[in-house]
Amino acid sequence: MSTLLETMEKLSTKGTCYYSLPNQVVQCTACAHNCIIKPGQKGICRMRCNRNGELRVQYGYVTAAQADPIEKKPFAHFMPGSIAMTFGMMGCNFHCDFCQNWISSQMLKDEAARVPVEAMQTISAQDLVNLAVRRDAQVMVSSYNEPIITVEWAYEIFTLAKAAGLKTAIVSNGFATAESLAYLQPVLDGFKIDLKAFTESAYKILGGRLQPVMETIQRAVDAGLWVEVVTLLVPGFNDNPAELRETAHFLASVSTDIPWHLTAYYPAYMQHSAPPTTPHQLQQAAEIGQNAGLHYVYAGNRPGRVGSLEDTFCPQCKKRVINRRGYHILEYKINANGQCAHCKTAIAGIWSDNPQDVPVTGELRSLF
Ligand code: SF4
Repeated sequence: MSTLLETMEKLSTKGTCYYSLPNQVVQCTACAHNCIIKPGQKGICRMRCNRNGELRVQYGYVTAAQADPIEKKPFAHFMPGSIAMTFGMMGCNFHCDFCQNWISSQMLKDEAARVPVEAMQTISAQDLVNLAVRRDAQVMVSSYNEPIITVEWAYEIFTLAKAAGLKTAIVSNGFATAESLAYLQPVLDGFKIDLKAFTESAYKILGGRLQPVMETIQRAVDAGLWVEVVTLLVPGFNDNPAELRETAHFLASVSTDIPWHLTAYYPAYMQHSAPPTTPHQLQQAAEIGQNAGLHYVYAGNRPGRVGSLEDTFCPQCKKRVINRRGYHILEYKINANGQCAHCKTAIAGIWSDNPQDVPVTGELRSLF
């Protein structure tokens, strides 16, 4: 039986996001590390490698593909109630010690992260799209590992998904480049970006930099993509009120219509010293976002315990337009034009053309 490395080698293809340099050296442009890679070597993510002067990238498999509620990504203003066929591969360009998907994301970087070779399921992009259609998905999402490092595979799947009438999205740490964003943008609708902290020192611990993430948020909004931002609130790491205020003001300076999700952390991977985030801490952080002028601030991972912070309100008439609990929609008051059903103000987002088909009261959610 082939080893995992042999299978990865087999399931690779020539990349698109890179430059050729002299002496068979390449420079990867998928993420902001911009690794310069010599023949026979790999980039920081360990998933993109230089073979004889050609950048080889992961291709033609998934380690997971499942139909999830779109609310799980989380997206609150992007086709609520829809099914998101979500696929992932392996690897990441960061090494967050609180990663929830560390077994696949830290593959080849951490000895303890071992993905069995059987987990790599060979599949064509068309078969994945066909699976999504059979499962009644309306959105195709690249997630679980960092999609930017496998951007060529996402591009191929998203191209076919759009031809089949699906919308597309990635769930990313936002450590992208202008090049990879421009490459993906024609086939991309939604971009969920983790803004993990708001200091360069915190990003250094995670293995990245803050500035490129801020630039990605600005570029994605400028490119007309639907952007939602998530901050996993880790007590003692990124919950300083002054830092949260700076984060919120930055987001508001890009657009007050960017939904900001503050989600509760649970101890995971190598991070067990910080206690789980309490509903009160989420509510305090959300208030900072609201005071900065953001129209849509949410608290996640504590369903039913954060008051109205799971719901969407019209920024004009202040009435509730979506009532949520966890991944369930209990009430949906947005019309086919994406407007508040009460006062007809446009609610920022990408909404269903058929609001009567949006599943409410959790009937469909029970499938998950
Ligand atoms: S995706 Fe990022 S980390 Fe991986 S090789 Fe390219 S620049 Fe380096």
